[in-house]
Order: sequence, then structure tokens, then C-alpha cells
Amino acid sequence: MKTTKSAAVRKHAAARNGSAPKTRPMLIDGKWVQALGGGSFPTFNPATGEPIANIAAGDKADVDLAVKAARAAFESGPWSRLTASERGRLLLKLADLLEKNLEEFATLESLDNGKPIGVARVADVPLAVDLFRYMAGWATKIHGRTFPISVPYAPGAQFFAYTQREPVGVVGQIIPWNFPLLMAAWKLGPALATGCTVVLKPAEQTPLTALRLGELIQEAGFPDGVVNIVTGFGETAGAALAGHPGIDKVAFTGSTEVGKIIVRAAAKDLKKVSLELGGKSPNIILDDADLETAIPGAASAIFFNHGQCCCAGSRLYVHKKHFDTVVDGVSAAARKIKVGPGHLPDTDMGPLVSEEQLNRVMGFLKSGQDEGAKAVAGGAREGKKGYFVQPTVLVNTKPGMKVIEEEIFGPVVCAIPFSDPAEVIAAANNNIYGLAAAVWTSNVSRAHTLASALRAGTVWVNCYNIFDAALPFGGYKQSGWGREMGEEALALYTETKAVCIRL
Ligand code: ADP
Repeated sequence: MKTTKSAAVRKHAAARNGSAPKTRPMLIDGKWVQALGGGSFPTFNPATGEPIANIAAGDKADVDLAVKAARAAFESGPWSRLTASERGRLLLKLADLLEKNLEEFATLESLDNGKPIGVARVADVPLAVDLFRYMAGWATKIHGRTFPISVPYAPGAQFFAYTQREPVGVVGQIIPWNFPLLMAAWKLGPALATGCTVVLKPAEQTPLTALRLGELIQEAGFPDGVVNIVTGFGETAGAALAGHPGIDKVAFTGSTEVGKIIVRAAAKDLKKVSLELGGKSPNIILDDADLETAIPGAASAIFFNHGQCCCAGSRLYVHKKHFDTVVDGVSAAARKIKVGPGHLPDTDMGPLVSEEQLNRVMGFLKSGQDEGAKAVAGGAREGKKGYFVQPTVLVNTKPGMKVIEEEIFGPVVCAIPFSDPAEVIAAANNNIYGLAAAVWTSNVSRAHTLASALRAGTVWVNCYNIFDAALPFGGYKQSGWGREMGEEALALYTETKAVCIRL
């Protein structure tokens, strides 16, 4: 079988055979530097468990330098004097460069994260390009308003009052490993469009595309210090960033558990915080659904990106009239999925990202089976090498089971029968998360009724996993604070200043 081996793969694979002894440096103040402490850590190919590159292990002192650089760039560097139009043009240039290097980015993402290269090619990279273009357009459209104020205690006085929107300042951005490049784009796009400066910390499991993006950020012409990229672990570099007094805002995507740690760290000096966290999204197939689209839709809702999506449709509620048909259909789809290394062209599903994640998902499968759930498809690890798990469909679950209540973040769906829409709305909403939900129905009135009754930041109807740079994404309840993408994301990166002038 032919495998894709770009220059990027060779460069990173070289680290394995010793011909590339250097540790991949990080970007601080426009320079590629090693960690001050000299530490490094490997990033692994999840298909084999072997290291592919060595990465600088940034820590508190490195974060400190990066924050200082971002502060200087924000307050007095050339960035602070750029026009909105110039900021927009830099973002457009970055989008063009990313698009030009699509193949390299898709290869790196597949190698580091494990996802099929074909998916990275059509989803991760183009979505990141589109996000930068979308946010470039906003750079010149962020404005305040004027207000006809009356001031009852100043009779006869005249005022001119308006608001202006200003960048929030230096932003610490901490991102996860499931869509490494895309999450970097979701974070960087609105921050740069609004004029903020950034210290970005990629996930330790998948730092490669963020580092390469740093090179393109320089090539596009962003001034030094505007985007700093500090690689390192969550408990060290991440914690130092979340608690750094020089940061005005922290933007985090990751687990709800770490989200709460971030909030506590940021609370010390009341930094602004936005969070995109976990989910346990209900995917509801009503009795009037078109099963020809609902069945493949339900399979892709959970198995896309190996279930490593915060919005994965992991609780599949099916009207009892169709329960057996849907379970058979989704199970057949699960069995058909070709699990393998991400670089092989016929792979549909790659490995989970890490050994830790493999153990976590296997722990959920065991707990489900111990508590009485039955796997009608999958249910086990695939092979002995790499972190592969079989696409799994569980039935016979009960409310209260771990597999029903908690986020698994793997290719595991629980299928649950129901008999009336009111019952399913209550069950769907009965969870600590509220990130996404979906409804499959041919009745437009029911579609709207359920869309409004479901307590989730996104509701898809007759579709799933539809993302667009224009559409806000984020969670109700413990799925987070604030929205990414769309115009709404700009609010997270701006302060509103009211100016009142006596005439
Ligand atoms: P997961 O559990 O899915 O691996 P995490 O929420 O642990 O996701 O990680 C998401 C991001 O948060 C990563 O960049 C990780 O390094 C970072 N992180 C983990 N722990 C902390 C922490 N204590 N403080 C700040 N960042 C952290």
C-alpha cells in the first residue's frame, strides 16, 4: 500500500533515527528558543506509540518571557499602531500561506494526532483557513455606537456619548489535542482580528502544527511578540499561563475538570475567562425521521474524529419504533469502519491520541460492561500496537451509569430507546453538559420545538457536526463560558468603553 510521505514527515521522522538531534524550539518574541530550563519532551505517533519529535518543555520562566513580549507588543510595538485594515490583511496572508501548505499541515496533523490524513485535508486545514479569512473580514468592522443620553439630574446639559470596542489586551490561550490546528485558528483568529496579543500553549500531545503555524505567522509579517507559542505540559506551562498576572484574559478549550482549575487560577486577579469544555451530546431520532439519513448521521455523529469531539453525539436516543433498525444500522456502520494508521489512504478511523486516552476509554468500556451494558458492535481494543479502539455501540444502559453520564471522548455511543418526545427532552437535558444536541425528524414543527427545548449551545436538525466560521459554538451549563467563532467570539476579545463628552 502506498503511504504519503511528505518532506514534513521525513523531517519529523528523522528525529526518531537520531539524525535530527535538535529539540523543536518554541516561539517567543519572534525568536525560536529552547526552554530556559533546557527541558524537552517527546511527541508520539499514536499509531505506533513511538516518539516522532522532541519538543521544548516550556515552564514558568518561559511563559513569563512570552507574556512580557506579548505585553510589549500590545502596548508599544508596531502591532499597536497597525490599522484595522492592516491587521485584516495579515490574517488574509496567513490564511493564504496555510492554504498553500495544506498538504504539509494535513500530514503533520495526521502524524501527531492520529487522524486520517484525508480528514485533515478536507476538514481541519480548510476550516482553519476559512476561520482566518472570516476573522480578517471582522477586523475593520468592530465598532461602537452612539447613545442619545438624557441624564435626569443634569437638566439642560448636552452630552455626546458613544462606545468604542478595544482589544482586551494580552491573552493566554490553552488548546487541546483533538483538532490541534483548528483549535489554534479558533483562538488566534478573533484575538488577532481585535488587536490582542497572544501566548498560545498547544497540547503536549500534539504541538507540531501549532509550531509550524508559528513559522507561517512570521512569514505573513506579524510583528514579533504578537503571537508567542510556548510548548509544555498543562500542569507546568499551562498552569503558569492561566495564573500569570500579566495576562488579561485566558481562553481555554479542554476538559471540564481542567476548565475549573483554569477558573480558579484566573480568579486570583479576576482575569477574563472563556471556556469551551466537555459534552455528552444527545442525538435524538424521532419516529418520523428519515432513517436513510439519520442512521449514517448518527454513526458519523459519534465516530467522526474517533469520538474525540467535545460535541460527539454520544447519547443516541431512538424512538422505540425504530430502535432495533437504528441500532443494527449504526452497528453495521461501526463494523465497516476501517481502523488503521492515519497516513494510509483507506483508513477511516485512526488511533486515539495517547496511551492515557486509550486507557481512559477502555476503563469506560469496562465500567459499562460491568454495570450491565452490552456492546452490539466493537467493545474492545483493536490490535496490540498503537492506541486503536473498535467503534462501539452499547445498549442496555441505564440512567446513572458512568457511560451515560460522563464524557468518554472515544468512539463509543450508547443507544437508548424512548417512547415520547417530552420524555426524551427531559432525558436529553438531564446532564451536567450542554454543548450540542441533534434531532432527526421530518416534522418542521417538532424540529423547532425540540431545538428550543434542548439546553445546548448548538442544535443540529437532520445533520450533525456542521461547523462554520460564521456560526457561534460553545456550551450551556458545564460545557463552558462564551462562544467561539462568529461575531460572538469578538465579544470575548474586546472591552467596551463608554465615552461621555459634555458639549
Ligand atoms: P484532556 O483531558 O482531553 O487531555 P485537558 O483539559 O487535560 O484535556 O488539556 C487541554 C489543554 O489544557 C492542554 O493544552 C493541556 O496541556 C492543558 N492543561 C492541562 N492541565 C492544565 C492545568 N492544570 N492548567 C492549565 N492548563 C492545563
